[in-house]
Amino acid sequence: MVIFKKAADLQAFIAMKRSEEPLKLGFIPTMGALHEGHLSLIAAAKKQHCLTVCSIFVNPTQFNDPEDFKKYPSTLPADTEALLNAHCDILFIPDVQEIYPDGFDAVKSYSFAYLETIFEGAQRPGHFQGVGKVVARLLELVQPQYLFLGQKDAQQCLVIKALIKQMNWEHKTAVVIVPTVRNEQGLALSSRNLRLSEAEQKQALALYQSLQLIKAAKSNNNFEHAKQACIALLQQNNCELEYLALADAASLQPLSDFDRQKEMMVVIAARVGAVRLIDNLYI
Ligand code: AMP
Repeated sequence: MVIFKKAADLQAFIAMKRSEEPLKLGFIPTMGALHEGHLSLIAAAKKQHCLTVCSIFVNPTQFNDPEDFKKYPSTLPADTEALLNAHCDILFIPDVQEIYPDGFDAVKSYSFAYLETIFEGAQRPGHFQGVGKVVARLLELVQPQYLFLGQKDAQQCLVIKALIKQMNWEHKTAVVIVPTVRNEQGLALSSRNLRLSEAEQKQALALYQSLQLIKAAKSNNNFEHAKQACIALLQQNNCELEYLALADAASLQPLSDFDRQKEMMVVIAARVGAVRLIDNLYI
């Protein structure tokens, strides 16, 4: 695995590789503290025989909560080892100056319409603007044929697809969405889980249990009723609910009740102790 800290060095290496042979580049952007979820994206890229580029960059512009940014876990030595074991080809670990050489505001911004006003967009003002900025910059640098993203961040997947469309890059970069990796009890793996105590990890299972409960209630045709049961379950487990909603799976437009004509998704965000977690499930 080759490791680059400088954007220019990464670009020169990729250009050199491209001059040798046609490249099939698979890109996996991350914020580090890698777990099996991230590694499943690397595995998906390897399975498609991509030359695999992983970036680790904790992007300041996507944190609406400064405490969350400050406390974001960093485990670079373990991440590097995990990527080596996963046969990742290129690791890019830039600092802020490499990604935003002319400052945060110099980067072109994109509009993600209603996606910025619902669920994660509503709860985290400015978050998707930050995601758009960093992903646009990384895409320009790497120019991948494939971009691997996790289903766990379903709304982010839609935002990044919208970004690629607005960049007119649909012919250049295809998005591949990889299913959410969970622990044995169902908790979606997340870098933020590192900040949960053992007791909180158990309480956090109520998020996945809520998603399952909604899925099971689909045939009864009363979303609100099922949601009330979830609210009780979450309260019992000290999970502070931000939203639990039903949406059209393709657009994430909210639905007021189950609609059998549509593929649906349940989305949830809740705080467990000081940690904010999100999850979702196709139903
Ligand atoms: P992050 O480091 O949280 O920015 O995530 C980097 C990428 O890994 C994003 O595309 C995430 O959606 C994806 N990811 C995070 N957690 C999981 C998971 N449990 N399963 C699959 N992909 C994940």
